[in-house]
Amino acid sequence: MMENKYDRWDLSYLYKGFDDEQFRSDLASLKEEAKKAITILEDSSVSRAVRIERAVTHSERVSAKVDRLANFIQCTLSVDAQNEAANAAMDQLMVAFTDLELSSSALARFVAETDDLEQVITASDVLRPVSFALLEMKQQSMHLIPPEIEPWILEMQLSGGEAFSQLRDKLDSTLVVDYRDEKLPLAGVRGKAYDPDPAVRKDAYEAEIASYAKMELPMSYCLNSIKMEARTLAKAKKYDSVLDMTLADSRMDRETLDALWTAIREYLPHFRRYLKAKARMLGHKNGLPFYDLFAPVGSIAKKYTVEEAREILIREMGKFSPDMAAFIGNAFDENWIDFYPREGKTGGAFCAGVHYADRSLVMTNFQGSFSDVSTLAHELGHGWHNRCMAGLPYMMTEEPMPLAETASIFNETMLSWQVLSSCGPEERLYLLENGLMEATQTVVDIYSRFLFEQEVIDTRADHAMSVDELKAAMLRAQDASYGDGLDPEVRHPYMWACKSHYYWSGYNFYNFPYAFGLLFGKGVFARYLEKGPAFAEDYCRLLRSCGSASVADVAASVGIDVRDPAFWRSSLEVIRKDIDEFCELAENN
Ligand SMILES: [Zn+2]
Repeated sequence: MMENKYDRWDLSYLYKGFDDEQFRSDLASLKEEAKKAITILEDSSVSRAVRIERAVTHSERVSAKVDRLANFIQCTLSVDAQNEAANAAMDQLMVAFTDLELSSSALARFVAETDDLEQVITASDVLRPVSFALLEMKQQSMHLIPPEIEPWILEMQLSGGEAFSQLRDKLDSTLVVDYRDEKLPLAGVRGKAYDPDPAVRKDAYEAEIASYAKMELPMSYCLNSIKMEARTLAKAKKYDSVLDMTLADSRMDRETLDALWTAIREYLPHFRRYLKAKARMLGHKNGLPFYDLFAPVGSIAKKYTVEEAREILIREMGKFSPDMAAFIGNAFDENWIDFYPREGKTGGAFCAGVHYADRSLVMTNFQGSFSDVSTLAHELGHGWHNRCMAGLPYMMTEEPMPLAETASIFNETMLSWQVLSSCGPEERLYLLENGLMEATQTVVDIYSRFLFEQEVIDTRADHAMSVDELKAAMLRAQDASYGDGLDPEVRHPYMWACKSHYYWSGYNFYNFPYAFGLLFGKGVFARYLEKGPAFAEDYCRLLRSCGSASVADVAASVGIDVRDPAFWRSSLEVIRKDIDEFCELAENN
């Protein structure tokens, strides 16, 4: 029997295994590398300029090593949560991370204390390419934690937020859901929300909700502890709030966030109109029950194989640029992608960049729906973003969260636009609805997640929230965002237990970047429609610059003012037109 060509990803170019000699010596060397970075800065026999040059060169070399190690360990764990060697290596890596973080704080402090920094940069061939990163270090230096307490804080994070984050992944990946007569992983049962059979969707939802009782208590401790730690860190770093810290890390200002939410709140009634129309089509009278949010509507109940997904993506993305088509073909054929759900594999999907090798690694839980094809387009968009950053110094590749979803959303929009423009009327309803379903998640659900996270962080100043309080807060947030679009009796009080984004210690509010990304991606896509194929080059330049300017400046480079609600309204207006068309089709269906 021939083995399936498209199945699991290949990590062997990183290392041959956990007992690979190279792997062990790379992992063991990180402690020394961190020490060396400090020694370089302390070497008073040479000028400050030379010390900064040497420290930057060293940091780039260590980043490449960490890139290789971290991807090997984390990607292994994402598909094999119980892998003992990977878990042990992960512990070692986390300890090394604190040493490395201390050395990068030392560099930031040293850079900030260099009075003639701009002249030093201008005069150096080594430093000019990382100019933005160095100037930002100086500008943000007031938020560095005092050196006397920083090591202790970092060390305690390992047994605090970081440990809770790992526990969260274990709880999620080992949960067994009793669905009908089967025992399924959480990701598998959640995938059934897309099933064409209404009874399957309802049963899966009920099985899923019932299963959370098995892990709600430890999960609530994870959430409360991670958000408490976020509060403590914001205080230690002299930020007024966790949100201010997140915005600074995002290179984004309040004005931009307010402009985004202002426009979104104005358009919530349109999204509710869509939800109610979908509910009526499916025979519900009181708004859409949560379990039918992802119900397929229209005539493509078609299932796709991975081979078909590959063919569609290459064909449709190739219309934008042949380079992107070739890139996608490579990603499939060179085994960059781990496709199918299996036990021990975490839910959802992600793309990890392997910068030193100019490659990416994509994990999905492909079950054959159009949405799964769209997820592949999304993740490969991240991959294309990584490709556009090829060759840049590591210091210039860290795009802030709001820009991180630009390329993925651009790809999703491109796929549905290409497919919509060439399909018959029957598929049109399905595809239109599919796009609206995703947009509703990214705008309406994301708004509820923002409100929820804000409430948890605010309440945490006073006490840890109980499971019941968390459930009530989630329902309140869903009410504020979905309103009467959702059936008030059938919502999802456990969304906080299934979305991993709340649990990434060190990243708070990983929600608004999605709304930003969707609407920004659509705005960028509108520029492509105006300019045609010539835009492909501008687009790649935009993606390449994402790690080397503020969000507002990156946007301004393609003529977008993100501080003006008018820009966000123009993107939402595109969605509103789809809602109008869908409601009309639904009426006549
Ligand atoms: Zn993404």
